[in-house]
Amino acid sequence: MEPVPQTIDTLLINCRLAPMADNKLCPIENAAVAISNGKVAWAGQTQNLSDNAAQILKQDPKQTIDCQNGWVLPGFVDCHTHLVWAGSRSNEFEMRLNGVTYEEISKQGGGIFSTVKATRKATRKELFESASKRIKSLLNTGVTTFEIKSGYGLDLDTELKMLEVIDQLNTAFPIHIEATFLGAHTLPPEFKNNLDGYIDLITKTMLPEVKNQSIATAVDAFCERIAFSRDQTQKVFETAKDLGFNIKLHAEQLSDSDGAALAAQMRALSCDHLEYLSRYGAQQMAKHNTVAVLLPGAFYFLKESKKPPVQTLRDLNIPIAVSTDLNPGSSPIHSMPLILNMACMLFNLTCEEALLGATINGAKALGLDKQKGSIETGKDADLVVWDIDLPADLCYLSGLSPVDLLMVGGKITLNHLNCHQ
Ligand SMILES: [Zn+2]
Repeated sequence: MEPVPQTIDTLLINCRLAPMADNKLCPIENAAVAISNGKVAWAGQTQNLSDNAAQILKQDPKQTIDCQNGWVLPGFVDCHTHLVWAGSRSNEFEMRLNGVTYEEISKQGGGIFSTVKATRKATRKELFESASKRIKSLLNTGVTTFEIKSGYGLDLDTELKMLEVIDQLNTAFPIHIEATFLGAHTLPPEFKNNLDGYIDLITKTMLPEVKNQSIATAVDAFCERIAFSRDQTQKVFETAKDLGFNIKLHAEQLSDSDGAALAAQMRALSCDHLEYLSRYGAQQMAKHNTVAVLLPGAFYFLKESKKPPVQTLRDLNIPIAVSTDLNPGSSPIHSMPLILNMACMLFNLTCEEALLGATINGAKALGLDKQKGSIETGKDADLVVWDIDLPADLCYLSGLSPVDLLMVGGKITLNHLNCHQ
C-alpha cells in the first residue's frame, strides 16, 4: 500500500478523468484527484474506494476545487519547439502566396538566414519578450511542459544567448522547460564552403561550453540533404553523448537520409518529422524504443504530400508523440489543440493517439515520462481541467481552447472555473 501523505493540499472533485496511464485514455467518471507537495497523491473513481484512497479522501484538504464535471487530463507536453527567435517572416509568407519560390526567397536573404540575422542582433530582453508571448499563447491551450531548441544563432555567443533566454523563461513562467542545443540546425553563411569546419566548431567549442554552463539537457541536429549528412550528425552525437547529453534528431523530413536508424542505434530519445522514414529506420527505432515525434504543423505549412508511415509505427509499437514544432519558417502554429486536429486530419491519428502523443509520449520524447505526461500517484501534478463533453473534443473542436483550470506542480496557473458559477 502506498503511504498516506500527511496533508492534501488540493482536492479536485466532481470531475471526469483521462489519466493517460498504460498508454490508454482510460476514461473515469465520478473521479477525484488529490494533490500533495506538488505531486499526485491519488487519482481515481470516488466509488468503491480502496482503504488507501478512502484514507486520503477522508483528510481535510487545504483547498477543494469543484471541477463541475469537467474533464481532467495531464497538461500537454510540447516536446519540439523553436519558440525563441527574432524578426518576422510574414513578408515571406505573402511572397509565397504570390508564387515566389522558397529558393528565390532564400536568394534574397530570406528563409532561415533572416531569422539567424535577426536573432544574432536581438538583445536577450527582446528575445525574452517575444518568446513570452508565444509561451503564454501555448499555455492558454493547455501546455505545461515545453521543449525549446536553440539553433538560430549558429555561432557560440548567440547559441548561448538563446539558451540563456530559455533558462530565463523557465524561471519566469510557472511551467517546465527542457532546453535543447541545436547548433547543427543549418550551415551558417560564414562557413559556406566549410561544412566540416562548422562541425568542428560545434564539437570542439560549442558543445563543451554548453555543457560547462549546464544550460541544455539534449542535443539535436538536422540530418537532411540541405543540412547535415549522416556522418556529420554522427560526429555531433558522439561528442554530445561523451559529454552526457541526451540526443534527438530532425530526421527524414524531406528525404530518407538514414538518420533515424543512426539516432536510434545511438539511443536517441526521439526522431522527429519522419515523413520519409524507411522500414529499416522504423525497425531500428522499435528495437531501441525511440519515440517518433510527428509534426503535422510543418507538413501543413510547407504543403507537403508525403505522410509519415503511421501504420508502420503502430505495427512496430513505436510510441508516437505529437508536437507544434513552433518556428517562424515552417510551423508558426501557436495552439496544441489545432495541432491535434491536424494530426488526426492529416496523419490519420485517432483522437486517443493524438492525445497520448501530446501527453505521455511527448514526455517520453523528453525522457520525462517518470515525472510527467500522465496523472498517476507520485507524478508531478501538471494537469488541466477542460470544459468539454469528451476528450476527443480537444482534437475535434479545432481552435477552441476551453481551459477551465491549469495546474503545474500543484500550483494553479489559470483558473476560469469561477466564471461558470
Ligand atoms: Zn524542428
